[in-house]
Parts: sequence; structure tokens; C-alpha cells
Amino acid sequence: METIQLNLKERTSRVFLPESLGFGKIFTDHMFEMEYTESKGWHNPVIRPVEDLSVHPASMFIHYGQSIFEGMKAFKQESGEVVIFRADKHFERLNNSAKRVCIPPVDVEFMIEALKELINIERDWIPTKHGESLYIRPFVFGSDPFLGVKPAKEYKLIIILSPVGAYYSEGFKPVKILVTDEYVRAVRKGLGDCKTPANYAASLLAGQEAVKRGFTQVLWLDGVEQKYIEEVGTMNIFINMKDEVVTPKLNGSILPGITRRTVIEILKSWKMNIVERDITIDEVVNAYAKGNLLSVFGTGTAAIISSVGWLTYKDKQMVLNNGKPGALDIKLFDEITSIQYGLKEDTHNWIFPVEQKEIVNS
Ligand SMILES: *Cc1c(COP(=O)(O)O)cnc(C)c1O
Repeated sequence: METIQLNLKERTSRVFLPESLGFGKIFTDHMFEMEYTESKGWHNPVIRPVEDLSVHPASMFIHYGQSIFEGMKAFKQESGEVVIFRADKHFERLNNSAKRVCIPPVDVEFMIEALKELINIERDWIPTKHGESLYIRPFVFGSDPFLGVKPAKEYKLIIILSPVGAYYSEGFKPVKILVTDEYVRAVRKGLGDCKTPANYAASLLAGQEAVKRGFTQVLWLDGVEQKYIEEVGTMNIFINMKDEVVTPKLNGSILPGITRRTVIEILKSWKMNIVERDITIDEVVNAYAKGNLLSVFGTGTAAIISSVGWLTYKDKQMVLNNGKPGALDIKLFDEITSIQYGLKEDTHNWIFPVEQKEIVNS
């Protein structure tokens, strides 16, 4: 494995974090970077100060969208120990996304070590209040200048870090969701199961129109018939009914969320009837009409669990639990965050500790 070069900034003062961090607004001092060329493969790994990038205006990702990313979190536990949540699964997923858009894969073990090294250097940037965390954004893009449509020959992989506030600083607050059949996010056999910017570009207009109508986000239906529910676009969705908890099965157009996977594994360990299957929006509406719908919640790294308080589909306006979070939603949120913050033992091997190491500038 190649050694990571360290080119670090002189730190003259302590890291000072503002009271309100929000999400994705503040960035740490350093980033990890490595390059790919056809002859050398992935090479030149370095941790260096965060600076503006210099890219040629013909860089391929700008024109044809050959780019992928990940989003995961690190936590500072009460003991002071720093841990990353399910880093292996995130880098494995990065490689799955890479494959679909012809980006060369990375070595998962090496990436975990590189991330640990970066986080060790940026340790002081990790906020400590319960609910706060360090958001980790790895991304890869085709960087050589060329205007023909084909896979790039050169790539850059970068990891930036952003201290983020508690998602629920004002308590666990349910969201208002609009089910749309006017637009689709992704189609089967397309890019839907790949964490690539194109899917977000496809979702912006529907999201903007939903926000104008007072909703938080859109729930997407399948790209062919607009009949089956898929996901929320930054979150996977779970329908908690009296005799089963259902989440749409991964069919190629749904992003395979790591939090989705975590929730399924926890529900199984609780011996609950969790089923991955196709589910139509009509089935959800009917379950609501019959009083069988206990709760609906989204899952994603940012919010962990997000209760849906209001779900609107055409002229059907469903209010869940009087707009309050469901009992299962809260139980899951507490279970996952307890493991992340070290309040509960990690029996699943989801936690990757970042050992404190002395930093030697190279
Ligand atoms: C990242 C993402 C999710 C959530 O995945 P997690 O791994 O749980 O954070 C859901 N849907 C889409 C489209 C995403 O990009």
C-alpha cells in the first residue's frame, strides 16, 4: 500500500466551532486527495490543506457527469473515542457506483485507512454535543480535458470533512412529504442505485415545486408506471403497518442506503416482521384508510430516522399519528444513535475506531 504524504498547515490557534453548525456549511482544514491515470492506477495519496481546485474547463465530469460520491459520519463518543459508522459499507458502495459509470474502483481497506488518517488529523474539528457529528464526503470525478463522450482517462478522488449540527436541534420533528407522479427520479437499469450527481439533478425541480407547496421533500414512485413507491431521494422509506414493516426491495432504481440496511438488521434482531418487497402507493393509502398504518419513516445518514407526519398523494391527505413521530421510529433512532455515540455496545461491528496517532508532517 502506498504511504500517504502529509502536507499539513501550520496550526496557529485552536479550532473554533460556531454554536450553530447546520449542515454542510463548515469545512475542516485538510482534505485527502489521490489521482488516477491509466498507466499508474490510483496513486499519489496526500493529505493537504483544503483549497480551491483548479480544473480545465473541458474536464470531462463537468460536461458528461462522470462523478460519484458518498456520505458517512464520524462521531466523538463520551469517552473521547472517535468512530466512523460502517465505513466499509460506504466504500464498497462507492465501488458499486463507480462500476456503473466506468470509474476505476478503489481499494476499500486503503480508503478506510486513509480516512482514519485524515480524521485523526482533523480530530479537533469533531463537535461533541449529542446529535452533532463529522460528515464525511468522499467523491470521484473524471478530470482530463476532452469533449468527446467516453469514459475519462484520469480521475481525482477527494475526501472533505464537515462538522454538522444535530439534525433535530428542536426535537424529533416529522416532515411533510408529497408523493409525485409528475416527475420521476430514476428508472430501473438506469442510475438510480448509484450515488451519482445526475440523480440529484433529476430531483431538483420536483423538490422545488414541493417546497413551494409547503412540503419538505418528494416521495418518488417507480419510473415506469408511477405506481410503486421507491424512496425519498435522500432517504429510503419504510412503511410500518400493523402486521409487517415494509421497505421497497432494491430493484435497480432505488439507492441501497446503509441506514436502510442498518434498520433492516436491527428490526430482524428485534424479531419484527420486516419485508423487502414491491409496495404500491395505493396499498399505503388503503392501509391508512383501514387504520393499519402505524408510521412511515425515512432513513439516511444525515437524519438517521425521519418520521413522516403528513403524506399527500393526489387528493389524499394522510396525517400520521397526528403529525407526531411513531413509537418504532423513535426506538430505532435511539438504538442507532446509542451505538454511534457509544452509549450501547456495538454487537454488529458497525463501528470503526480512529486510533489517536502522533502526526508527523512529511
Ligand atoms: C445517500 C442516499 C440515501 C441514503 O443512504 P444512506 O447510506 O442511508 O445515507 C437514499 N437515497 C439516495 C438517493 C441517496 O443518495
